[in-house]
Amino acid sequence: MRAEILTVGSELLLGQIVDTNAAFIARHLAGIGLDLFHKVTVGDNQGRVAEAIRTALGRAQVVITTGGLGPTADDVTREAVAEAFGRDLVFVPELMEQVDAFFRARGLPSSPSNRKQAYIPAGAIPVENPLGTAPCFIVEEGDRSLAVLPGVPREMEYLLVTRVLPHVRERHGIQGTIVSRLVRVCGLGESRVGELLADFMTRGGNPTVGTMAHLGRVDVRIAAKGPDDASARTLIAPVEAAVRQRLGDVVYGTDGDTLEGVVAAGLEARALTLALVEAGTGGLVTERLTAGGAAARVRALVASPADAARTLGVEDGDSLAPRLAGAARAWAGAALGAAVVVGPPEGEGLSRAHDVAIAVRAQGPAGEWRHRLAGDAVQVRARAQVLALDGLRRALGALGR
Ligand code: ATP
Ligand code: MG
Repeated sequence: MRAEILTVGSELLLGQIVDTNAAFIARHLAGIGLDLFHKVTVGDNQGRVAEAIRTALGRAQVVITTGGLGPTADDVTREAVAEAFGRDLVFVPELMEQVDAFFRARGLPSSPSNRKQAYIPAGAIPVENPLGTAPCFIVEEGDRSLAVLPGVPREMEYLLVTRVLPHVRERHGIQGTIVSRLVRVCGLGESRVGELLADFMTRGGNPTVGTMAHLGRVDVRIAAKGPDDASARTLIAPVEAAVRQRLGDVVYGTDGDTLEGVVAAGLEARALTLALVEAGTGGLVTERLTAGGAAARVRALVASPADAARTLGVEDGDSLAPRLAGAARAWAGAALGAAVVVGPPEGEGLSRAHDVAIAVRAQGPAGEWRHRLAGDAVQVRARAQVLALDGLRRALGALGR
């Protein structure tokens, strides 16, 4: 069965906001096994929105729109839906009551323009929106369903997951589910991961295995179809075990795991503090570790390589990172010391590159890595922080429990 997504908003076409709604909906449509062949974006123009709805309903059984449901004059989606179906907009007193109740609960007056939101196409199924003022609705005609959702991501996501998808599954008798498991990898490029997993990736069948490259890391996605969640997971388990076996210690986690979260958990589990010198990464590693929950376990020094050397009283020059890591550990009285040092740019244009050195010290050396990263300074800093976090992860792993 086919689905189509229609996102409405001129700001999307102007590139002023990124269409995260379409990506969210796409993932969830895949999750119930619907095929998505088109994602369409149109501006706030009634005629063009109506046309896009008719086109979508001509080639997909399930169409989901977001945006343009608000009270202002440039919100035209409800009028466009009415036009596309040739139905009138009718006033639904219960929807008006919901809108009024929303404002009352917040001690705010509702404005006359909110009255517009209580109109939906004749025969549409109203869907209450407990998170916002824009009530949304589903229109059924023949074997086609059109779900009309607000643009605000938080509202859209809630309504899609709790209201629209259950309705669509029931109405169209959709039984299967697709479950995706992510195996998170750092320290190998996507092409190398692809080589190691080539037989899984070309085999097809169920589950399927694919890779997605991100900055400095790779996700391996194992996706299985099954009649329900549990049976899909049962299909995934042996493939995941085989993938992990094949990849070894470059695997740092699964699904929602992050590098910073893994490092933070590693420090916490061993009750270790970390003295961290960031020379050339502008505090990015500290920021990530803070986000991962390790703020109380990290003492950081953010400085240029030369200033870091001077502050910690070590000699500047070659192989600075291990000296900084050792001196920082002593300076902060921490169990672990680490340093990431981004060197100055070398070369011009496309061959421009920076040397990046990472060192970790416990009682003795606990790891040292050197990389030469091409790209502009922003890209190099972004990748250097990932490599630094991965170095910390590996050093912690090597320390044992
Ligand atoms: P409201 O009742 O709040 O006006 P609405 O249904 O009219 O909701 P829009 O006005 O189109 O929705 O969008 C509201 C906000 O939601 C936008 O300012 C934008 O920040 C966000 N938004 C809209 N569409 C998308 C989208 N496709 N992806 C991500 N964010 C979006
Ligand atoms: Mg709006």
